[in-house]
Amino acid sequence: MDLHSLISHLVSRAPAFARRMQQAGLSPDAVHSLSDLAALPVQRKGSLVELQAADPPFGGMLAVTPGELKGIYQSPGPIYTPEPKVADAWRWAPALQTAGFGPNQGVLNAFGYHLSPAGVMFHEGLAALGCTVIPGGVGNQEQQVRLLHHLELTGYVGLPSYLKALLDKAEELSLPLSLQRAFVAAEPLPPSLRDELQRRGVQVRQGYGTAETGNLGFECDALAGWHVPDDVWVQICDLTTGAPLPAGEVGEVVITSKSPHYALVRFGVGDLSSLDTSPCTCGRTSARLMGWQGRADAAVKVRGLFVHPRQLAALVARFPSIVYWQGEITRHNHKDRLVLRIETTDPSVAQQVEVLAPSVVKIRLEVQAVAPGSLTPDAEPLVDARTWN
Ligand SMILES: [Zn+2]
Repeated sequence: MDLHSLISHLVSRAPAFARRMQQAGLSPDAVHSLSDLAALPVQRKGSLVELQAADPPFGGMLAVTPGELKGIYQSPGPIYTPEPKVADAWRWAPALQTAGFGPNQGVLNAFGYHLSPAGVMFHEGLAALGCTVIPGGVGNQEQQVRLLHHLELTGYVGLPSYLKALLDKAEELSLPLSLQRAFVAAEPLPPSLRDELQRRGVQVRQGYGTAETGNLGFECDALAGWHVPDDVWVQICDLTTGAPLPAGEVGEVVITSKSPHYALVRFGVGDLSSLDTSPCTCGRTSARLMGWQGRADAAVKVRGLFVHPRQLAALVARFPSIVYWQGEITRHNHKDRLVLRIETTDPSVAQQVEVLAPSVVKIRLEVQAVAPGSLTPDAEPLVDARTWN
C-alpha cells in the first residue's frame, strides 16, 4: 500500500487518526509523500494512555475490526497494543536472519511473554525463520542454564545483561554451553559488554524497536548503526517543531508504520537518535539509526524551545578545563532563565561558553563559574527549578 492509500484507509477506519488529520488541516488527498505529512504534529507515546483511557481499548486508532486481531498485549503505561493476523507481525525475521539465525536452530527466547508483546514478537520472528524456539521468558536462571546445556542451544534472544548472567551461572554450575549467536535489544549494549560476550564465544547483534512499533532497526556485520527495515518510515525530527531533520542531526525518532491495521503515523517513540544515509559496507542501501542517544523526555522547554541535557554536554565538551557542570532553569517575571554553572580550572572560559552557546544549544544562557566543591560528578545535568504559581 502506498502512503496515499494507507492514509486514506486509516482516516476512513480510525476515528482518532481522522481527528488528528482534521485538526492539522490535512486531507488524505493531499498526502502523497512523507513530506506532505510534515504538518501533522508528532503524536507522543504518552498520548496513547489518555486516548486509550477515553476510548478503550485502542483509543480510536485501530483500523481493523477487533475480530481481525491475532492478539492484544499490554505494555507498561499501561498501553494496549493490537497484533494483526499476519505472520511475524512485529517484523523481526529479517533482523534475526541478518544476525545469522536460521532453520533448525535451537534458540532460547528470554524476553517476557507475560502481557507484554516482547516475548511473542521475537518468538514469531524466530518461528518465521524456521528456528526451534524455547519460550524461556524472564527469570528462572538456573533452569534456563540447564536447558541451554541439555538442549545444546546455539541461539539466544533477550537482554544482553541477562545473557551475561546466564553465562556466569553456567560457569558457576560447570555446565558447558553451545551458544554461538545472540540477538539483543531493549537496553543499551556497552562496547565492553559486547566485547566480553564475544570473548566468551557468542556473536552479538543488536536490534532496536518498541512494543508498539516492532522492528525499527538492526545491525549488520559492519556494526555501523541500525539498518531501518523497509516496512516502516523512520524520520528524525526537531523536538520543538516536529520538522524532519537532515541526516546526521540529532532529534526524536518518529515513525510511520506501513501496516494498515493500526494508525501509527508520525508517532514519536521518545528516543533520540540520528540517521546516516551513506552506503553501508554490507551492501544494504537503507538508512541507519546511529544508536540510542538519550530520551526525548529529558528535554525541557525553555523560552519555547526544547533544551536537552546532551546539548549542554556537547557545549561543555568543547572546554576541557570544565570539570563539573549543571544547568538550571528558573523563572523570573514570567521569563525563563537558563544558567549553566561550571566548575573549571580556568574561570576565563565562562565568557567563551556563553558566546558559543547559541550555536550549540540554540538559545542564550548565562554561565557562572562556581567554587571548587560546589558541584559533584553525579550532579543532575539539567534542573528545572521553575515554579508556576
Ligand atoms: Zn550494513
